[in-house]
Amino acid sequence: MTTDSPSAGPSTTLGRKALKAHIQYDFVQANQEYSENGTADAQQLTSGPRSRTAIITCVDSRSSPEHFYQLKENDAIVIRNGGGRTNDPGAIRSLAIIQATSELKEIKVVHHANCGSLFYTDKWTKDMVTENDVRAPAGPYRDGCGCWVQAISFLPFCRKDDEASDDEIVKNSVKGDVEYLRNHPLIKPSVLVTGWFYNLATGIVEPVEC
Ligand SMILES: [Zn+2]
Repeated sequence: MTTDSPSAGPSTTLGRKALKAHIQYDFVQANQEYSENGTADAQQLTSGPRSRTAIITCVDSRSSPEHFYQLKENDAIVIRNGGGRTNDPGAIRSLAIIQATSELKEIKVVHHANCGSLFYTDKWTKDMVTENDVRAPAGPYRDGCGCWVQAISFLPFCRKDDEASDDEIVKNSVKGDVEYLRNHPLIKPSVLVTGWFYNLATGIVEPVEC
């Protein structure tokens, strides 16, 4: 299990942002066109994904399994959270219920290059929210945010070695997260758990030896 640790060296790039131009995306129009071109299999009982595979990956909008694996509806289960962490209780809840309601043969853990989880720590995030700067973009959080944030583990990637490259840190996080699932009581031993690194520059999803 990979967690933030007090010995992890502080990053000089905490909270790094590279904001790009805001676009107005017409979600309603996009959905209208989609619905006119056929919808997903809408049978009443779920039979699980055709590939019998679940993919857990990051919420980053550049890291989309539907695109890099060319998935269609019902091809695979996709679970996403910040970093694509397996030690997130929400991920375990989803994986447990998928195994209870359908057959699962493989779980792919896919982390990606240049992930935002490289650029925060648990303490930095909690301090930032607790400070609740009214000048922050989009304004402050609501009252009570300090209590709520203390109860959350933000699961950043751990910088254990100043010499390691960012890509090595991400690949090490894949290994830790695969190991976590392989030993978790709610993941059946019959389910294969594999690790992958999505290289944004090449579009290749590279295997990680785990
Ligand atoms: Zn990410």
